[in-house]
Amino acid sequence: MGASKKDLRRREQKKAEEAGTRVATTKGGVAVKAPKEQVQCNVCKAMLVKEQKVQLKDHATNKHPKSEFSSCFPGVTV
Ligand SMILES: [Zn+2]
Repeated sequence: MGASKKDLRRREQKKAEEAGTRVATTKGGVAVKAPKEQVQCNVCKAMLVKEQKVQLKDHATNKHPKSEFSSCFPGVTV
């Protein structure tokens, strides 16, 4: 029997580890993505993903039409 997928993965991880490029993985060996940075709406305290600019804009426009975007998400530029 040759090397199983698990062995291969372990070998890959070892290689990556030696190269200093190892990424965090789950038990199953799947790379864990870094949690997305979230930003909180200053008006209604909703949490939104910071990089989803369209959603932020939509949120400000639809939920708080009377508020400026900058008062919903101060410090966020779109
Ligand atoms: Zn809001």
